[in-house]
Amino acid sequence: MDGTKQPNILIVDDKPANLKALRAVLSAMDAHIIEALSGNAALGLMLEFDIALVLLDVNMPGMDGFEVARIAQTLERTKEIPILFITAAYQDTAHQIEGYRSGAIDYIEKPLNGEVLRAKVSLFLRLYNSRAESDRLRKEYEELTARIPVGTYTFRIRANGSMAFEYVSEPFCRLLGLDRQAVLHDAASAFNAVHPEELETFIRLNQEAGEKRQPFLWVGRFLVADQIRWIHIESLPRLEESGDSVWNGVVIDITERKQMEDALRRLNDELEDRVQERTTELERSNRDLQQFAYVASHDLQEPLRQVSGFAQLLARRYQGRLDEKADKYIGYMVDGTRYMQELIEALLSFSRVHTSGNTLQAVDCEQVLAQVVRNMAKSIKSTNAVITHDPLPVLQVDPFQMHQILQNLLTNAIKFRAEASPHIHVGAKQQREEWLFSVQDNGIGIEPRHQERIFTIFQRLHTRVQYPGTGIGLAICKRIVERHGGQIWVKSEAGQGSTFFFTIKHRPGQES
Ligand code: ADP
Repeated sequence: MDGTKQPNILIVDDKPANLKALRAVLSAMDAHIIEALSGNAALGLMLEFDIALVLLDVNMPGMDGFEVARIAQTLERTKEIPILFITAAYQDTAHQIEGYRSGAIDYIEKPLNGEVLRAKVSLFLRLYNSRAESDRLRKEYEELTARIPVGTYTFRIRANGSMAFEYVSEPFCRLLGLDRQAVLHDAASAFNAVHPEELETFIRLNQEAGEKRQPFLWVGRFLVADQIRWIHIESLPRLEESGDSVWNGVVIDITERKQMEDALRRLNDELEDRVQERTTELERSNRDLQQFAYVASHDLQEPLRQVSGFAQLLARRYQGRLDEKADKYIGYMVDGTRYMQELIEALLSFSRVHTSGNTLQAVDCEQVLAQVVRNMAKSIKSTNAVITHDPLPVLQVDPFQMHQILQNLLTNAIKFRAEASPHIHVGAKQQREEWLFSVQDNGIGIEPRHQERIFTIFQRLHTRVQYPGTGIGLAICKRIVERHGGQIWVKSEAGQGSTFFFTIKHRPGQES
């Protein structure tokens, strides 16, 4: 109802005087009155206008009131229009109107009592108004549901077991490729669209949900225009007093999502396969390289020992006996061979991280640190270094390698000291599945752009004259940490000291 339009009441009587009287009685009502002087004229007006109520005189020449009502009953457009018969007092109207049960029917006897008539009419008008309102709401609902890309439906299962769709939206029919009239007429025709391989489960789940009156949830295939569509259906039951259950449901086409998910899964699988292949290949070439580095450095040792031995012999025997240049050259040779020996030893210990690592065992890191500090006593003393530390845990590690990490980091912290004497702190903090260690110093620091490459073998930032070393210590630390399932990195600024962090996986069953 738009509120501005009054409902139409059609009054039908063959006598103009009666019409006038009726109009007078109804004049105070909020309705628009239309008149007809015969049954024929009345039917014409009922077809033409939207009539809220017909006040129908029964006794008319030609087509009487009952005849009019009977014809109105048979026409689609007029069959729902309520009729209030006006009858002579002596007529057995109650009996006669039995046949018009489907529409709203009532009667009133002559002579008319204005009060009673108005009461009856206003009841009919209220009925009309609420019906118009519910029609409007339904239309709005249908318009709305036709516009969203989700199908909606209402399905009723009667107490006696029969079932039918009460409402299906346009998208419902489009998504499932169903004919609206066919589905409304025969609910089972909706099953035709279910993919044959899914049909059995679909029917079973439907039945179960119906019997238990539990929400119905379904994701499966439908065949729509010979194409497989993935459909998601969700529907909730509402119980009515009559024992009927009414199911309001939504239908969503998830084919695109499903295809994307499948494609993604396939891609992931392929990617995993490729990563796996790559990893195996890398592992193999890594092993080969390690093997090569080990064999090369091992086999180089012997000839180097010879060269170095003879160089030292030369130095001892002929120092001061040849000219100055010869002395210098011999000195270079001795130095070079010594450095090469250092390099080869470092390379060997680098390649041994994996090949000759001990098995992991419970190790008290406090004790390891104490041992490292004892080993370094001389350099600690000569540089006035102060070393502090947090309480350190007992961890499942290779004891020798844990020693190696701490010793390398502490040695560097002292070696790369600034003017002030070194202050070094060894920290340890438990995180979810690992321990985070840190070694903080107040040394010369490292510019951010170098912070990654210092963990690569032979990468140094200084000459050997500035700081002795082989550039292998941090590469060894990285290997060891990775062998223990952790990571290593540094935070530093040039001139601001450095903090090296590394993590060690906390293995189950180990105390901390
Ligand atoms: P080496 O100490 O033999 O040079 P490392 O692999 O231990 O080899 O270190 C690589 C480089 O990283 C060092 O040459 C140095 O430039 C830098 N570095 C390592 N530790 C520190 C530190 N605590 N402070 C400043 N620079 C450092």
